[in-house]
Amino acid sequence: MSLKKLLLLLVIAALFVSAFAFDLTQYLSLDVLKEKQQQLNQLFMDYPLQTFAIYFAIYVISTALSLPGATVLTLGAGAIFGFGWGLLLASFAASLGAFLSFLSARFILRDWVQDKFGERLDAINRGIERDGAFYLLSLRLVPIFPFFVINLVMGLTPIKAWTYYWVSQVGMLLGAAVYINAGTQLAQINSLGDVVSADLIGAFVLLGIMPIIAKFILSLLKRRKAFKDYKKPKSFDNNLVVIGAGSAGLVSAYIAAAVKAKVTLIEKHKMGGDCLNTGCVPSKALLHVAELAHNARNAGKSGVSVGEVSVDFKQVMHQVQSVIKDIEPHDSVERYTKLGVNVEQGSAKILSPWEVEIESEGETKRITTRSIIIATGAKPLVPNFEGLDDVNYLTSDTLWDLEELPKRLLVLGGGSIGCELSQAFQRLGSQVTQVEMAERLMGPEDEDASELLTKRLVHEGIDIKLNHKAIRFEKKGNESVLIAEHNDKEVAIAFDKVLIALGRQPNISGFGLEELGVQTNKTVSTNQLLQTNFPNIYACGDVAGPYQFTHVASHQAWYAAVNALFDPFKTFRADYSVIPWVTYTSPQVANVGLTEQQAQKANKEYEVTEYDIGELDRAIADDSAYGRVKVLTKPGKDEILGVNIVGPQAGELLAEYVLAMKQGIGLNKILGTIHSYPTLAEANKYVAGEWKRANAPQKLLTWVEKFHRWRRS
Ligand SMILES: Cc1cc2nc3c(=O)[nH]c(=O)nc-3n(C[C@H](O)[C@H](O)[C@H](O)COP(=O)(O)OP(=O)(O)OC[C@H]3O[C@@H](n4cnc5c(N)ncnc54)[C@H](O)[C@@H]3O)c2cc1C
Repeated sequence: MSLKKLLLLLVIAALFVSAFAFDLTQYLSLDVLKEKQQQLNQLFMDYPLQTFAIYFAIYVISTALSLPGATVLTLGAGAIFGFGWGLLLASFAASLGAFLSFLSARFILRDWVQDKFGERLDAINRGIERDGAFYLLSLRLVPIFPFFVINLVMGLTPIKAWTYYWVSQVGMLLGAAVYINAGTQLAQINSLGDVVSADLIGAFVLLGIMPIIAKFILSLLKRRKAFKDYKKPKSFDNNLVVIGAGSAGLVSAYIAAAVKAKVTLIEKHKMGGDCLNTGCVPSKALLHVAELAHNARNAGKSGVSVGEVSVDFKQVMHQVQSVIKDIEPHDSVERYTKLGVNVEQGSAKILSPWEVEIESEGETKRITTRSIIIATGAKPLVPNFEGLDDVNYLTSDTLWDLEELPKRLLVLGGGSIGCELSQAFQRLGSQVTQVEMAERLMGPEDEDASELLTKRLVHEGIDIKLNHKAIRFEKKGNESVLIAEHNDKEVAIAFDKVLIALGRQPNISGFGLEELGVQTNKTVSTNQLLQTNFPNIYACGDVAGPYQFTHVASHQAWYAAVNALFDPFKTFRADYSVIPWVTYTSPQVANVGLTEQQAQKANKEYEVTEYDIGELDRAIADDSAYGRVKVLTKPGKDEILGVNIVGPQAGELLAEYVLAMKQGIGLNKILGTIHSYPTLAEANKYVAGEWKRANAPQKLLTWVEKFHRWRRS
């Protein structure tokens, strides 16, 4: 705790204790007030302004210090100053006192509380940021919630100070009026209990829940407004219609069927979507085959000779397709039908918030539904480069139909898809040139992770051209060339095939969203419930963002499906607190939480601990001793902020940290866990050991050293 905070705490504590030590609180009792009422009335008549000011000051100080007696002071305001002036004084003094108490709690304790319980408070913080004024108003309207507790607790939350002040002022007005009014007839009050009857408290409670009811009504009105141009069917064919059978759509439909809802899943192309057919699965299968070729070529140095390594590209692509075939049943129409999902193959179009049209082979049919989930995924982003259409370009959608290994492959884009495919093709025998306009590959990754990977890719022979901005494509005779801008000059890069890997753009058009007015902004816009501006239409997966990963698509699908089926009775906000991702190059690059650059950008203090995988026994034995584990922690605290791993099986190593971060486990617990020898996972234990050494309690160790010296003597 800083000196300023400590000083303020001491001053408040000293004033609080003195108030009791000098028995000042005895003056804040009903008996004393009644006994002194005449004198106080006289004082007010003789010195109106001074009495008003002194009373105001006493009120503010006692509430700011959370001394008991605010009720008596409020009664007193009515008894001495009458209803009008009393109400003015009490409402401003109470609000100002409450505000000071709130500010003190915020200044002294908020950082500490948020630091200590940070992630556990996330949901509360988000709730307060969103609806803090409503909650506070409810608490203020019901006089049964202790005044000082509200002040102190609210100070620890992220509610804005100004919101806190004005809501308190408004919320306390009615309660204050009741007490001030009672104060004007002080003689008839024998105890504080006489002021508010059980009926009156009941009325206050009702009033207290009014803001919550108002919020509910507002959301109903919003809902009606969105639906006002459409006629709602009297009954529905389905509880849920899911558009798109990729990772997001499949999981949404699965969950709906599991909870016995009637669900229709519509897919216009291939079941399994991008991940199975053109994304994760084929790319990982290709990387695996490429690794076999790479290892075979490099086996000689370990004494294993496999002769000249040749790659039969047709067979490679056949192998990739056979992997897809092996996984296909998991996502098949048959499996989902068995699970209870009605699967429709055709193109879906949303006609109204409750009606979807399915078009298949020239035939259309319409189905009705209570809710809809949009899970239409994304497609490769292909900018409108001049000349691109003349060079027969590839994307991650079309790459899998390639029949011949390109001799010279140009990969445009330095993101994870670009890097994975560059390495795969280089290892299979293409000469790959990878072009990236930024100054490094893998922009969102940790800076040194991208450097470690780049070194490796260059070492394998990939020609990486950074700071090269693609301008246009040209055909020079039979030769295809990319013209790129580099250092303000145009450079020409020749290639046989070009793969455009410049990101993926959500599928948001052509199926009714524009006509209906579903809001989009590159992705379909959703709130934290994954709900669009139409309360019964949800979106998840690549089409909703903000991440484009299969595991995030299925994670979101759970929220979208449950919310679509159970709103307004029970809803859940999508939780993105611990999202891992992996690039499956060799070495792999795996990340969870903050990278160093993100921490710096967010002005978050952090401590870095690294372990060099070059030192790891298992990695040395496997001839893959390259990379490092980097862990970011809160300075001096056992709290993991982020982990970035470059190395063999980095994605598998990361799982331990994903679990740790999700469950609030720190490096001490990882260090105390037995890891089998020799495994790559030992790297996690070693980095925890490094962290422990760096954070060893030096003072205590000096004493322990003295203890050992004493025992030797
Ligand atoms: C080369 C590559 C490698 C990747 N590797 C990984 C990886 O290793 N790990 C990872 O987590 N992610 C990876 N991804 C990303 C991952 O594939 C996507 O994040 C994931 O597939 C998104 O799932 P989705 O359900 O949102 O969309 P999709 O899988 O795209 O599914 C959307 C489906 O909706 C259908 N559809 C669209 N419009 C309509 C309509 N009007 N009517 C009916 N059907 C419609 C489409 O045909 C499609 O089948 C990779 C992507 C690519 C391209």
